[in-house]
Amino acid sequence: MMNAPATVTSCATTACAFNSDGCTAFAVTIGGNQDRASCSTFITLDARGGLPVAGGKVGACQRIECTHNDDLMCGLEAISVGADTADCLNYEIG
Ligand code: SF4
Ligand code: SF4
Repeated sequence: MMNAPATVTSCATTACAFNSDGCTAFAVTIGGNQDRASCSTFITLDARGGLPVAGGKVGACQRIECTHNDDLMCGLEAISVGADTADCLNYEIG
């Protein structure tokens, strides 16, 4: 059975246009590479956007090698994002 999409419970990447005390994007895509999973929705713009309050979800995750990946979605209930490079802090391999 399909899980509910993972919530982005915190994002410390404050340079992102979707960050307002957390992720306000309706859904983010996690991408990156095998060394580092990162949020592909991350963007720096001279604007802030998204939902009125933080409540972002992981709509898709391209890191198929992550142990939490489930049919290109995140199988966890929640993830945290951080660092200047918007890393998925729950990324785990092996
Ligand atoms: S999770 Fe991604 S889109 Fe959301 S605020 Fe952080 S870097 Fe931006
Ligand atoms: S924990 Fe793994 S499956 Fe979930 S979003 Fe991060 S990299 Fe993707």
